[in-house]
Amino acid sequence: MVCTAESVAAALRSVAAVVAAHRDELVRLDREIGDGDHGENLRRGFDALVSRLDDGALPASPSAVLRLAATTLISTVGGTAGPLYGTALLRASTAVGDVAVLGAAEVAAALGSALEGVVARGKAEVGDKTMVDALTPAVAAASSVAATGGGVAEVLEAAAGAADQGAGSTVPLVARKGRASYLGERSAGHVDPGARSTALILRALAEAAR
Ligand code: ADP
Ligand code: MG
Ligand code: MG
Repeated sequence: MVCTAESVAAALRSVAAVVAAHRDELVRLDREIGDGDHGENLRRGFDALVSRLDDGALPASPSAVLRLAATTLISTVGGTAGPLYGTALLRASTAVGDVAVLGAAEVAAALGSALEGVVARGKAEVGDKTMVDALTPAVAAASSVAATGGGVAEVLEAAAGAADQGAGSTVPLVARKGRASYLGERSAGHVDPGARSTALILRALAEAAR
């Protein structure tokens, strides 16, 4: 895959479609250990992004597309996850710089910066039962594939697989951050909705890159 502004925009449209298709599932997961708005929050944000991509000119670089996604999510998603995903995208945008075509190393670096942004803002660690439990193994897998010569599609495939496993790993955990932490021990036995949405987003990006 050649990772241009156009293909990054197309990949984000795919993410929007996947988020919309899983809106009800994410609402259900968030109803179990939160307030039930995660699926709708994300659907609204990614829908707004698709509208902005439809209405405006294509941003000039992959970085600019990611920045548009960041500012759109920050201004439309709300809740806890909106600013976290927005920060992730903003850091990713900065990390890739002004190149016209992203390679595997840039994509892996963008994921790493996205995680750093989420952690800087939300202060969650692995094991706290948040999106960090999906994103952390995804970054590790992406970095190792990029370091051993994998292409963009392989980097994203590895990230998606690791994120899926990471999301699954949140089931037995007791939440220590966010709304689910108010439930204490009762938060155990459920997938964290933000970890699930992170896995879905990375899966959509991997599919788009194939
Ligand atoms: P809210 O809890 O405000 O309704 P959402 O339902 O949109 O927000 O998002 C909830 C998700 O946000 C959780 O499932 C979790 O993955 C993530 N989250 C919550 N707090 C944090 C945090 N401090 N760091 C990282 N992720 C967090
Ligand atoms: Mg919620
Ligand atoms: Mg909420």
